[in-house]
Amino acid sequence: MKNNHIRERDGANISLWQSAASKTEINGSGERYIYDVLIIGGGITGVSTALKLQKKGKKCLLIESHKLAFGTTGGTSAHLNTFLDATYPEIDSDFGKEASNLLGQAAKEMIEQVRKNIEEFEIDADFEYKDGYLFSQNEKESQQLGSILSSSIEAGIDVSEVSANGVSLPFERVLKFRRQAQFHPVNYILGLSKEFLRLGGDIIEDIFIESTEFKDDVHIAKSSSGTYRAKSLIWATHIPPGINILSLRNAPYRSYVLAVKLKNDDYPDCLAYDMQEPYHYFRSHIIDSERYLLIGGADHKTGHDDPEKAFSDLENYTRENFQLEEIRYRWSSQYYVPVDGLPYIGKFPGGDERSYVATGFNGNGMIFGSLSAQILTELIEGNETELSKLLSPSRIKPVSGFMDFLKENADVAYHLIADRFKTEIITSVSELKNDEGKIVEFEGEKLALYKDEEGKAIAVSPVCTHAGCIVNWNATEKSWDCPCHGGRFDVQGKVITGPPRKSLDQITLPS
Ligand SMILES: Cc1cc2nc3c(=O)[nH]c(=O)nc-3n(C[C@H](O)[C@H](O)[C@H](O)COP(=O)(O)OP(=O)(O)OC[C@H]3O[C@@H](n4cnc5c(N)ncnc54)[C@H](O)[C@@H]3O)c2cc1C
Repeated sequence: MKNNHIRERDGANISLWQSAASKTEINGSGERYIYDVLIIGGGITGVSTALKLQKKGKKCLLIESHKLAFGTTGGTSAHLNTFLDATYPEIDSDFGKEASNLLGQAAKEMIEQVRKNIEEFEIDADFEYKDGYLFSQNEKESQQLGSILSSSIEAGIDVSEVSANGVSLPFERVLKFRRQAQFHPVNYILGLSKEFLRLGGDIIEDIFIESTEFKDDVHIAKSSSGTYRAKSLIWATHIPPGINILSLRNAPYRSYVLAVKLKNDDYPDCLAYDMQEPYHYFRSHIIDSERYLLIGGADHKTGHDDPEKAFSDLENYTRENFQLEEIRYRWSSQYYVPVDGLPYIGKFPGGDERSYVATGFNGNGMIFGSLSAQILTELIEGNETELSKLLSPSRIKPVSGFMDFLKENADVAYHLIADRFKTEIITSVSELKNDEGKIVEFEGEKLALYKDEEGKAIAVSPVCTHAGCIVNWNATEKSWDCPCHGGRFDVQGKVITGPPRKSLDQITLPS
């Protein structure tokens, strides 16, 4: 693995994108002005939105708790699709055909928007149009594929049934979606951020916004080291912090990716997807003259399954289906599944005036993060559109997802109670191996205990500071992951992602 310059990411594993990206020059003290807009979060959503608003003449400040692309944008697989995880038949039945049309059109426009940005700002982001193949492997999937074909055509998508699937995997039926695309997500947002800075926007990294208030018509955001003011506020943090309706309407999932070298030259020149649950996704990418097969899948709810097993399942699948030579990169990252299938982009429900949010992107955040820039800019300029009404975070939609919603919440309640009984009693920290993390009961106290590679034990409270659930150890990304709403903490208990605002309490072990 090339290790010349590794950007930070919200996990211990290194993604394909971290090694290739360069550093941006960041400016801005942030405390001088009342900005027009404060954007919190430096992923594709925050950076795209900041640039769009700055171009419209707004004076913007973007604040990121770590480095740009620290979040899921640094761990994505960066396919750009006109078909979505909520399929067009599902959107037709839950929101109507007009909604499918609006979203299909928006997805096409966002692929063009990304291409135009890359061209206009001369970003080295490897943009390439590719065909996308969706293939079935059994009768049930083939039936679903048939209905996806007809609904997609009605939604104005360029798709047809074909007889090859672009990868050497067995199939029954295949759909070919034309003019999909792929790109380098981190180079892309670093390129956008340079343009944002050139236009006079300010960026501050390494500042975690802990709280906000709305006073005298101004938003005041506070970190442990500074206070920032703006007329409008955007939470581009993938999921907004705190306990609110959106943390109840989105379920956190993890997805796993391998970037591998093959013994033969069987790298797909396309994007491809099977229809298993969870589905696998495939594409290739050349970085530093090396071609890689990217293969992703093994998704599960955060904190609910063993991440090591997810990686080994994905690795076994790859070995069974490709001539695997070497796994060069493996990483996982988090995404949020909205209860009714569509993202929430717009005014923060029940929030202060002029506060906005963009979340619930499922596996389509390259499209929806870019679309958020458009919708939020329009809303801040006072324009509501059909699309902003459709994706309004305040929508109350009695759709079929409602039962899933109840199940998700029952699941959360179960973890609140059951996890409290799942602890192992230990009498000495020597019972843990080096580089092992466990929830334990030690001298009458429940601990999230990690022993580092040198054997030093670090103990924090296992109670998530968001809603009080018990965290689980993620041995592959070296984090404490909450199974309820996806809060994640590092071994020191510091928030790395998700809705918590506060670190896990540190606990001093007896010497
Ligand atoms: C493995 C995987 C593969 C995927 N593949 C695809 C794909 O092929 N195509 C696609 O369209 N989508 C894909 N997705 C989804 C997509 O990557 C995400 O939806 C998208 O990256 C989210 O971008 P974002 O900017 O909203 O959030 P993020 O990239 O997570 O950025 C949010 C940022 O906010 C910062 N932050 C959080 N809280 C605070 C705070 N309080 N103060 C300051 N900063 C804060 C974080 O540090 C983070 O950098 C994939 C997701 C996963 C997990």
